[in-house]
Amino acid sequence: MSDPLWFDPALCLIGGEWKGPASGQTLTLVNPSDGSELCQIARGSERDIDTAVLAARSARDGAWGCMTALERGRILARLGHLVLERVDDLAQLEATDVGKPLSQARADAVALARYCEFYGGAADKVMGETIPYLDGYTVYTLREPHGVTGHIVPWNYPMQIIGRSVGAALAMGNACVLKPAEEACLTALAFAHLAHEAGLPPGALNVVPGLGGEAGAALSAHPGVDHISFTGSVATGALVQQAAGRNVVPVTLELGGKSPQLVFDDADLDAALPFLVNAGIQNAGQTCSASSRILVQQGVYEQVKSRMAEAYGQLTVGPAMNDLRVGPLISERQKQIVNGFLEKGADLAIAGQGRIVDDAPVSGAYVQPTLFADVGSDHVLAQDEIFGPVQVLIPFETEEQALTIANSTEYGLVASVWTRDGARQMRLAKGLQSGQVFINNYGAGGGVELPFGGVGKSGHGREKGFEALYGFSQLKTVAAYHG
Ligand code: NAD
Repeated sequence: MSDPLWFDPALCLIGGEWKGPASGQTLTLVNPSDGSELCQIARGSERDIDTAVLAARSARDGAWGCMTALERGRILARLGHLVLERVDDLAQLEATDVGKPLSQARADAVALARYCEFYGGAADKVMGETIPYLDGYTVYTLREPHGVTGHIVPWNYPMQIIGRSVGAALAMGNACVLKPAEEACLTALAFAHLAHEAGLPPGALNVVPGLGGEAGAALSAHPGVDHISFTGSVATGALVQQAAGRNVVPVTLELGGKSPQLVFDDADLDAALPFLVNAGIQNAGQTCSASSRILVQQGVYEQVKSRMAEAYGQLTVGPAMNDLRVGPLISERQKQIVNGFLEKGADLAIAGQGRIVDDAPVSGAYVQPTLFADVGSDHVLAQDEIFGPVQVLIPFETEEQALTIANSTEYGLVASVWTRDGARQMRLAKGLQSGQVFINNYGAGGGVELPFGGVGKSGHGREKGFEALYGFSQLKTVAAYHG
């Protein structure tokens, strides 16, 4: 493994050049595993965003915009290859920066490569259609890039979210301005270095780290941006949408969830158990599609409760590099948010808890994974997104009741149904208000091919799969009259 910081982390990439932020100011990145200072990153501001948007525009109007879809695809495929070559370096960076257990960080790096491969291969396969119309006309549609796309990315899965959003936007020929999260932006910078190595022309990808209220707000309000993709909290997503709305610019919002798994009496519990727990504690529960609600039918409720409790008893929490099941949260601030929720559960019964290992530094952002039992569906822990390793068990009696509970939050990102009854599977797949429904699994391995996004407060628009290519393009209808 080479030195994971093979680049200067205090710079922005603008128009193909690495430069310090206009303010000359930096921000401190903290290692959440022990609270130590990792490095300084650029504190990008409105001025840097402005230069980055101009650079993206000239790339779009210049070398990048002139490239064929095939050439764009080849660059992305090369980039995927370079990501795979540096997978261990990227994993180490992400683990240190985000606090993610090393093997989970490695899986994210592999997913980033897969996004580049998928969108590299798809770039020249996005087609319009011909439309039968009045006599004397030939009508067809063209899929064209928006132009300059803004990408505001959170800290929980930097590599995966960059892959699915920047990857798809580049494949369609957009020029991107990426604002990574101030808590974790090292892999965004590393990715940009690899993109340059892969032959991406200057300005096609610009990266401006900085604070959300500064660089992020400037990007979402910039009149030179033609589309914004945002992943993060509901409150910030609403601000981004308002800012973009003033310029009449479309946004894709991916805002998290309160995703349920519905376990029926006839479920294959041996198959379900690993998913029930893992979907809640992966990445220390800081996953937009985390399953934080486990709805269980009365006949198997006690069994599921005791088996999940046993699994919780085996969970260990510690530094990212120890590669245990659970790492620290992203920050002391996030730890306080999650501990606040745990206090709100003081009236509830704890069914099971994980263990923070003895050698976990006290200065790290660790919380104990916690499973609450017999939770009412209107309890705050069953309604609010916690973004920590906390799950609630909610008992139910009938399918109808399960569906009502599942659909009772403001969110609708992902849902899963565990039952052998085929008719019930189909009914619930239709009835669940959610962007994705999984039957007898959870997440389907996270496939980059599968369109992803939410309903309600989980957001709107779809990323991943071919659907993202439609989102990162606009449709033009051409009607030719030839008599
Ligand atoms: P956030 O939504 O504030 O930050 C996400 C991104 O938005 C970051 O890049 C940030 O710099 C940027 N941002 C912040 N303020 C902005 C603004 N005014 N304009 C434009 N961009 C801005 O999230 P957070 O404060 O880091 O986390 C708080 C909560 O958000 C978490 O507890 C969790 O519930 C939720 N969250 C969800 C996701 C997800 O994947 N859906 C990811 C991170 C956080």
